[in-house]
Amino acid sequence: MELVEERPYRFRIERHGDMRVPGVVFASRELLADAEQSLRQVVNVATLPGIVGASYAMPDIHWGYGFPIGGVAATAVDDDGVVSPGGVGFDISCGVRLLAADCERNEFERSLPAVMDGLDRAIPRGAGPGGVWRLTGPEQMEQILRGGSRYAVEQGHGEERDLIRCEDRGAVADADVTQVGERARERGLGQVGSLGSANHFLEVQQVAEVYDATAAAAFGIALDQVCVMIHCGSRGLGHQICTDHVRAMDRAMARYGISVPDRQLACTPVESPEGEAYLGAMAAAANYGRANRQLLSDATRAVFRRSAGVRLSLVYDVSHNLAKIESHLVDGVRRRLCVHRKGATRAFPPGHPDLPGDLREAGQPVLIPGTMGTASYVLTGVPGGDAFASTCHGAGRTMSRHEAARTVTGRQLRDRLEHGGIAVRPRSLRGLAEETPEAYKDVGAVVAVSEAAGLCRTVARLVPLGVVKG
Ligand code: 5GP
Ligand code: MN
Ligand code: MN
Repeated sequence: MELVEERPYRFRIERHGDMRVPGVVFASRELLADAEQSLRQVVNVATLPGIVGASYAMPDIHWGYGFPIGGVAATAVDDDGVVSPGGVGFDISCGVRLLAADCERNEFERSLPAVMDGLDRAIPRGAGPGGVWRLTGPEQMEQILRGGSRYAVEQGHGEERDLIRCEDRGAVADADVTQVGERARERGLGQVGSLGSANHFLEVQQVAEVYDATAAAAFGIALDQVCVMIHCGSRGLGHQICTDHVRAMDRAMARYGISVPDRQLACTPVESPEGEAYLGAMAAAANYGRANRQLLSDATRAVFRRSAGVRLSLVYDVSHNLAKIESHLVDGVRRRLCVHRKGATRAFPPGHPDLPGDLREAGQPVLIPGTMGTASYVLTGVPGGDAFASTCHGAGRTMSRHEAARTVTGRQLRDRLEHGGIAVRPRSLRGLAEETPEAYKDVGAVVAVSEAAGLCRTVARLVPLGVVKG
């Protein structure tokens, strides 16, 4: 793949073949080693009807279903632009939430083992069902799909401030529950308030470095402070919705005269019955994902209160797998766009009207998990942020799960982490090995390149004290 370096950390793939826009890849040459397959996906995405600007890739890009993970694509709604479930991914609204404790590491240290044991018992995880919330029936499921974390808070599982600090104030209004199939509801029913497996985690962390004291203060974090990071999504419900709607779009595409270079890019116009059906179901799954993270926060708070007498406040909650209808300037003209972010995080700049008052000056907190053995980051959006105000979402995998598990056993990895002062509570040792830090890119490099490319600014670095893994 030919990459033209436009300026440091910004490469261009010139239009060729059926591409409607160029590809723009934010990265360094080092981060793009082995990226051939995912760059081909960037090119494929550039052929989608109605795409504007460019088919973007973030520095943590790697191969995904149809679209690369670390991909951003926006289509013009009023110009027959399409929506594609592959541009969101199977784990709809997978995202990250950060909570800040009212204590520093020193005072907390002796409570850590008890807190970790408490979390080990309180946080449901693994592939199957078993969430922190037993639903009374299908009506309650509908409330979650409509009300997201707002409903969870109304039911006593959180505080009002949690909603202010959540993307979309905890719920989107355009959820269409009639588009969520029976099978999806069934799969979601027993999993409300559960972590899932593998890459999903709950981590106790410490703020190890602050780069932007003003933004950190606005977010509510400070040096040495103890934090909790939760990464999970919409479980089987989101997965089933993606499966159902990819199938429907695959059948409908020809009717709209759309052909795509890869069937995994199945799509229809945003303003078509199939497009609206998907976006309505996707919004319902996004609400489910937020409720899920809200309930896990509630369970976490109970453990911290009981075992350490510590209180947790929400810093922010943001998805990294979502499509949203947003208004952006394209060549000086304001347009309604369907922005797909898959393994990419929205990063609103300071002053953005959708930010709550206390974050307006600092910008939107962007939460970047790294690995359980290295570090994670808090970033913020910047004025004029590129790629429709988006940035990276993590370190990004370099090894498949299978390859990773061949490099180390779960037992070896657990011992190594524990030796390094990181408490590990895995559900499965095999699952732990699949997530070995070596299976990921260097998160520090990904974040530095994202900042140097003009996508965001670094606010703080967090290091793990303990990890609860699926
Ligand atoms: P994804 O949503 O693409 O599955 O994962 C997002 C990011 O989470 C990955 O790119 C990786 O950097 C990060 N990650 C996966 N497991 C862990 C973990 O146990 N701890 C931390 N801090 N980050 C992780
Ligand atoms: Mn996920
Ligand atoms: Mn994720």
